[in-house]
Amino acid sequence: MSLEGNYDPDNIFAKIVRGDMPCVKVYEDANTLGFMDVFPQSSGHMLVIHKRSKARNLLDVNPDDLAHIMNSVQKLTRAAKATLNPDGIIITQYNGAPAGQTVFHLHVHIIPRYEGDLKPHASGNMADMDELQALATRIKAGF
Ligand code: AMP
Repeated sequence: MSLEGNYDPDNIFAKIVRGDMPCVKVYEDANTLGFMDVFPQSSGHMLVIHKRSKARNLLDVNPDDLAHIMNSVQKLTRAAKATLNPDGIIITQYNGAPAGQTVFHLHVHIIPRYEGDLKPHASGNMADMDELQALATRIKAGF
């Protein structure tokens, strides 16, 4: 999908927000949801989305909704640093399929970086759900 198009209310993240699909939740407030990426690029890879925004990407989003998303990104990034002790943390966001976007509900990636351990984007290896749950529990202790 290009940078232009209609929001699909049945995209995976919309289903997660509605509770039609499970997720390993790390954080939720009135506006946003933070959860573990099931195909993680590193240990502790999380995603943050807005729960009501129909933005597909950064170009579509209302600035107030974006501010809520980024506040939560900072909160989760701080929690990841405090609990997982990474060497660095990548914050990234893809716009349009040619740029690497696969889910067209605006989301921001939080990817803890450990020396010598970073898998490529969309590498296709699904995480163990118990491991994701354990990581989510650790990160929550950092709020
Ligand atoms: P992007 O390629 O930027 O659109 O990122 C989409 C991300 O969503 C990828 O990193 C996928 O691993 C992740 N993902 C896809 N399906 C799910 C899911 N059901 N729960 C959590 N993460 C998912």
